[in-house]
Amino acid sequence: MPKTHSTHEAPRSTTGLPPALANINGNVLDDSVLKKIVDPDVYYEFARCRATGLPMDRYSRDELAKSIRGWAQSKGCIGFSHWFSPMRGPVHGEKLETFVGVDFETDALVVDLTGRDLFQTETDGSSFPNGGLRKTHEAAAYIGWDTGSPPFVYRQTLYIPSAFVSWNGEALDQKTPLLRADLAVNEQSVRLLHHLGDTDVREVVCNVGWEQEFFLVDREAYLARPDLVATGRTLLGATPMRGQEQSTNYFSKLSPRVNRYIAEAREKMWELGISIHCTHNEVAPAQHEISPIFNLANLAADTNVLAMDVLRDLAFDHALVALFHEKPFAGINGNGKHNNWGLNTDKGDNLFVPGETEHENRRFVAFVAALLRAVNKHGDLLRCGVSTAGNDHRLGAQEAPPAIITLHLGRILERHLKDAAAGGPLTGYGTEVKEIPISAPVADIRANLEDRNRTAPFPWCGNRFEFRAVGGNQHIAFPLTMVNAALADSVKHMSEEIESGKDADQVIRETIGDNAGVLFSGDGYSDELYEFAAKSGLVHLKSSPEAYRELTSPKNVRLFGELGIFNEREVAARRCVLEEAYATEIQIEARTLLAMLRTQILPVAIDDANGSTASGFASTLFDEKRELVQRLLNETEALAAAFDGFPDDESEAAAYAHESVKPAMESTRAVADRLEALVDARLWPLPSCSELVHGHQ
Ligand code: ADP
Ligand code: MG
Repeated sequence: MPKTHSTHEAPRSTTGLPPALANINGNVLDDSVLKKIVDPDVYYEFARCRATGLPMDRYSRDELAKSIRGWAQSKGCIGFSHWFSPMRGPVHGEKLETFVGVDFETDALVVDLTGRDLFQTETDGSSFPNGGLRKTHEAAAYIGWDTGSPPFVYRQTLYIPSAFVSWNGEALDQKTPLLRADLAVNEQSVRLLHHLGDTDVREVVCNVGWEQEFFLVDREAYLARPDLVATGRTLLGATPMRGQEQSTNYFSKLSPRVNRYIAEAREKMWELGISIHCTHNEVAPAQHEISPIFNLANLAADTNVLAMDVLRDLAFDHALVALFHEKPFAGINGNGKHNNWGLNTDKGDNLFVPGETEHENRRFVAFVAALLRAVNKHGDLLRCGVSTAGNDHRLGAQEAPPAIITLHLGRILERHLKDAAAGGPLTGYGTEVKEIPISAPVADIRANLEDRNRTAPFPWCGNRFEFRAVGGNQHIAFPLTMVNAALADSVKHMSEEIESGKDADQVIRETIGDNAGVLFSGDGYSDELYEFAAKSGLVHLKSSPEAYRELTSPKNVRLFGELGIFNEREVAARRCVLEEAYATEIQIEARTLLAMLRTQILPVAIDDANGSTASGFASTLFDEKRELVQRLLNETEALAAAFDGFPDDESEAAAYAHESVKPAMESTRAVADRLEALVDARLWPLPSCSELVHGHQ
């Protein structure tokens, strides 16, 4: 199957710019650099093979490697590493290899990079999460260059974005399924477009713009918190005294220290070709957001991991720590990562823009209809795509979209589609523009026809959809694979209907009519949603373990197989890895919390209670403290008992973690947090959440 690829040429830096802007793209080996450094015949061969998926001949590979090594050396590199994405969250894998080789004729050391070394390397697949696809005695796994994602230089190393598969070719990573899902979207969308009269379209690509939220805390304070170090979130700690009540942080000015850090991180990201466009303070104190301009889904997933890496690395230089966890602090917002997702053709058309002609308008309605079906039939997959232990703290918790996946289009478009399904015209939506009446002498404002709904998990934003349920600490490739799989299946279904002899307009109308139950324009934080979901028969998978079980349902195994995204073994492995990760994360949290209670909190709380008694004064304050200490002792025992009960089977362990361990942790925390507000602050052994979110500002 041909490789989907669009070249990514960015303008090179010019002189006369501020230093921060002068080296944009300076460390990216994109096509414009390749064309300059590689012999034209070799470049042509590379581009041809990339487009067709065929291997390059040995001579060209070696020549390509030689030129790339020369470029990397000129940037100070002494070696290279394939850069891959094991199934373990947004933490890439790397294996550093130097440019040093041996000339076996003379036994002398030489500087070298062979074509083979550039394109592939090998590793032990059994030591990464693999869901049973690899074992210690059957461990071979390969890492191969994804030529659609440009190599880059970071910290004196040439990094080569790569896919990671087993000896059988089964996906062990986040990238491979996304590339396969992109191919499915491309193939099925082109097929439907041809039925709709766009016979000259040859490629449809999926574009994504992510918005990364994160917290910054002081490194010294972070190191004094075993929970932050071990789990990325506070397992106890009272809500900051000044939280987000007055919205004073949202879009406020960055504090001087944070500003210096962000400016440096952004400059570094620009050098790496990450188009950071927007930076702002988020809702919670100490919370920030950055986002780049959208890119092909595969590149967006790579740049997100890289951006998180840069944020982590530079935080170290500024004695800060970046927290991406979905719920670092109780009582204030957590971290999400909206994925703005859209489809574009090689003719330059955006399939989610209503367009100006009747033809464009009908095509838009057809693709929105496909998405309606995707969300209605495969809401379970979308939910699964955003299911992690961390994200379970956000979904449905009044700060993030609910765990029920609905589609929000806006009231006018929703009405238009429902009328169309009932036999009305398919076209005619979106020709008007809305002017905002301000009644004050300021510039005219023109707006989208539709209002925005920030409680919806998947709202339309005029030219794209925004998958808002993704967690801040997720690798976005998996949720995007789920969205693309659901969409590709629905577009395929529509093509099959048309190919069976049905009229295309009738298929569009029926698709809308059959799936309109997924359209919800109300307040996603209200009870109305739950009533609506029950009425429409929408799936409500309340927790991650419930969602993981759906991944391997007969419907989903068939869908992944038909679209070539996962074979049956791969889906089962994916589910197993997710369940294991969920159970292990909560196991680590419970273990950490127990240690903190037993060795830090309880000794101090007991001393304090004893001191109160010894003081000779009487007060309800002292009575309350003594009562809370006793309760905390009881809670700790109950948590220890829950911790000891973890079953071995990963599926049962995930369910057990959710049903038994999490509630025990939460009720323990509630008592500890009340004590924190009463115990002598000179004794309290941990930096408070107030200090964490305000101390470095
Ligand atoms: P918000 O208003 O939700 O905070 P932002 O401006 O922070 O939005 O982010 C919007 C993101 O959407 C950016 O990454 C932007 O490049 C991306 N985006 C814009 N148009 C498209 C599109 N057609 N397809 C995919 N992403 C898009
Ligand atoms: Mg947003």
